[in-house]
Amino acid sequence: MENKEEPVFLGLLDDKEDSTIDEFSTKFGGKPKLLISKQIPQSKLKCPSCNKQLSLVLQAYSPMIDLPRAYHRVLYVFCCLHCSDIKSWKVFQNQNEFENEFENENQIENQNENKIENQNENQIEKENQNQNENKIENQKEIFFSSNIEFTNKEIEENSNIDSQIEKLLLDINTKTQKEKQNQIQKEREKENQIQKEREKENQIQKEREKENQNQNQNQNQNQNQNQNQNQNQNQNQNQNQNQNQNQNQNQNQNQNQNQNQNQNQIQNQNQNQNQNQNQNQNQKKSKNRKKNQKKKRRKKQLIIPAYFLDIIPEPKKKNIPKIKISNIEENLSTESKNEKLEKEDPFLKFEERISREPTQCLRYSFGGKPLKTQDKFIKTIPKCPICKSSRIFELQILPTIIYYLDLEKFNIDFGSAYVYSCEKCCGDSSDYYEEFIYVEDPIK
Ligand SMILES: [Zn+2]
Ligand SMILES: [Zn+2]
Repeated sequence: MENKEEPVFLGLLDDKEDSTIDEFSTKFGGKPKLLISKQIPQSKLKCPSCNKQLSLVLQAYSPMIDLPRAYHRVLYVFCCLHCSDIKSWKVFQNQNEFENEFENENQIENQNENKIENQNENQIEKENQNQNENKIENQKEIFFSSNIEFTNKEIEENSNIDSQIEKLLLDINTKTQKEKQNQIQKEREKENQIQKEREKENQIQKEREKENQNQNQNQNQNQNQNQNQNQNQNQNQNQNQNQNQNQNQNQNQNQNQNQNQNQNQIQNQNQNQNQNQNQNQNQKKSKNRKKNQKKKRRKKQLIIPAYFLDIIPEPKKKNIPKIKISNIEENLSTESKNEKLEKEDPFLKFEERISREPTQCLRYSFGGKPLKTQDKFIKTIPKCPICKSSRIFELQILPTIIYYLDLEKFNIDFGSAYVYSCEKCCGDSSDYYEEFIYVEDPIK
C-alpha cells in the first residue's frame, strides 16, 4: 500500500523571515507575498465567525511545473487570531504562468538544494524584489507621510494649546495687575479719606478747644454752667474719641476684608490656572488615548511570527525502537498487537508517522493521503466550484505550529488543517481561488 503513495515532503521550521523572502518562498506567518499585482480582496479575508481580519498562517509555493498556466502557484492559508474558531480557516490559490523560456525544474527540490537558479530566474527575482521594494517604499512613504501629517497636526494643535495657555496666562496676569492697581488706588483713596477725616476732626477739636478756652475765659459765669459745659465737653471728647476708634476699627476691618478679597482672588486665579492646566492635561491625555487606540487598532491586524520553511522528503519508517522493546520485554505477539492498535487508533498511527521527523510542521503530498489524528473526519470534500472536478489532498498543517509559532497565546488549537484543491488546478493569474480546508478538532 505505502509504495503506491505519493511522495511526502515535510516542512521544518527554518530561519526567521527576512527581507529576502519572496513569493516563491514557503513560509509560516508574516504577510502574504503575492504572485500578481492584485491584492487578495479584503472581503475574502474576513473571518466568517467574527468578521475580523484573518491572519496568514501559511504561504506555500507549490508550482505545477507540468502545467504552463500554473507554473507558479501559491497557496495562502489564513485563520482568525481574534476568535480562534477552527471554522475561520480559509485557503486561497493563485497561479501565474512562466513567461520566459525556462528549464523545468522541481521547485521544491530546488528550494531544498539552496536555490540553484539560472540567470532568468535571478532577473525575475530581482525584478520582483524591485517591485516589492517599490511597494515597500510606497507603503513606507504612505506610512511616513500619514505620520508626518499626523505629527504636523499634532504640532499645530499643541502650538494652539500653547498659545491658548499663553493668552490665558497673559489675561490672568493683566487682570491681576489691573486688580492690584485698582486695589492700591482704592487703599490710597481710603487712606486719603481717613486723613481728611482726621484733619476735620482735629479742626473740630481745635475749634472746640478754642470754644473751651473762650468758655474758660468766661469763668465768671456760673460755675455750675461751666461744670456742665465741661462735662459736656468731656462727653463730646469721649464721643469723638469713640468715633475715632470706631472709624479706625472700621478701617482696619476694611483693610482686612480687602486683604482677604485679594487673597481669595489670588486663590481663584490659581484655581483657574490649575483648572486650565488640568483641562490641557486632560486634552493631552485624551489625545494620547486616541493615539493608543489607533496603535491598538493597528496591532489588531494580528500577525503570526514569520519563519521560512525548510522542505525535506519524509524519512523512511524507523523500526529500531520497537524491535528493541519487543526483544527486552515481550514476544512477537505483543508487537503485532501494537501494530493492530496503531491501525485502529489514528492518533497512534499519527504519532508513529510524525516520529520519523518530530519537528515537522507541514506535510505536502499533492494527491497523497492526509494523516488523521482522530477517527472523526470530514466525509465528503466539496468539488471544485469552477470545473466541478474532485478536490484532492494537497497539504496538511500540523499542530506542532501551535508550539513553534507560539499560537497558544491566541488560543489557537486544532488537530491538523488539511488543504484540498482542485485536481485540475484550475484558475488563472487574474484572481485568488478559494480552495477547501478542513480543520480537525484539537487532539484530546
Ligand atoms: Zn474570527
Ligand atoms: Zn477546478
